[in-house]
Amino acid sequence: MVNVSIKAVSREDLEREIFDLKNLLTISKSLNSTLDYNILTDSILYTCLGSLTVVRAGFLSKKSIDSNEFSLHRNYLGFELDHNQDYGIPEKDPLIDYFARNTRCHSLEMLREISAESQFDLRALERLCPKIIVPMKAKGQINGILVLGEKIDGSDFTHRDRDYLENIANFAAIAIHNAFLFEMTTTDMMTKLKMKHFFMNSLKEKMELNKTGDLSIVMLDIDHFKVLNDTYGHLTGDEVLKQVARVIQDTVRQVDIAARYGGEEFILLLPDANISLAKIVAERIRRNIAEHPTVIDGVKYPVTVSLGVAQYDPQRDLTERHFVERADQALYRSKEHGRNQTSVAP
Ligand code: GH3
Ligand code: MG
Ligand code: MG
Repeated sequence: MVNVSIKAVSREDLEREIFDLKNLLTISKSLNSTLDYNILTDSILYTCLGSLTVVRAGFLSKKSIDSNEFSLHRNYLGFELDHNQDYGIPEKDPLIDYFARNTRCHSLEMLREISAESQFDLRALERLCPKIIVPMKAKGQINGILVLGEKIDGSDFTHRDRDYLENIANFAAIAIHNAFLFEMTTTDMMTKLKMKHFFMNSLKEKMELNKTGDLSIVMLDIDHFKVLNDTYGHLTGDEVLKQVARVIQDTVRQVDIAARYGGEEFILLLPDANISLAKIVAERIRRNIAEHPTVIDGVKYPVTVSLGVAQYDPQRDLTERHFVERADQALYRSKEHGRNQTSVAP
């Protein structure tokens, strides 16, 4: 809901209200034009910085789907942080519950006063020392907290500023909620990697945009996983899957997309990577997995994987399925030749 209070009826005031509404409409359109969390966060912060001319802007949110803490998103602007300090607020803190009931702008002083009774954990906010704090709420839940510094000209935030900010927080909360839903429906909950259909869509997009052919994929399959399941049970198998997924995610760059392709098969999309780079990445993953056995309750379970890499060939790979098929055939050769190795698609 947009809260625009028309208290005065002078032409000047009405014109200002219309101006604000037009701007809010543009902001809403812009915030709802992406489901990418990083782009969205940047967009929210730059909107605050630009519209309210503040010197600092940050945003606390949950880092991942299953996180239970609101922490400062790394895209913050203007804050000088002490990296030895924690800037998180536990989800269960009474402050979050309070925000869910009071979504207006707050100052730190206001929160300190209320905290005397309610015992909020204000440590993160005290460290950031923002001038104004705005809760973001969508579908009845807090999904972010905006923290802004002083205005550039040193003036106080006016009523109009606060109304405006609360509207931005409202739109931002809805956009964050949509991005969160998208994340939920495209992420494999066990491994926290992307799902196959998301991967195939991204691959299609990247192939359509690619002109140079510098685009590679890596397919990966755990060796003798059935034996591991049969010997140690499915729960151990699940834990191995999670740990292999973590190694994959920790090895790749932010621009790469790692997905769970099937049961114990994974696939990687490496933009701007030719076959030599793709092979280096594949081998790094293979070694990391082979050299670091999965440890569960102190027991080590040696795991190896076989990999196949392929570079996009616009002449031959007319469909994404064909491209994936070539990597799959390379993977099959790795299996045939003894497993725990990487093969390159011709
Ligand atoms: P290879 O080296 O040739 O790949 O042999 P493999 O045993 O790994 O391959 P196979 O396809 O015979 O077996 C795959 C196994 O993966 C069978 C299936 O039960 C298991 N699996 C698939 N999804 C899951 C899962 O989510 N959890 C667990 N624990 N096992 C799974
Ligand atoms: Mg296997
Ligand atoms: Mg398999």
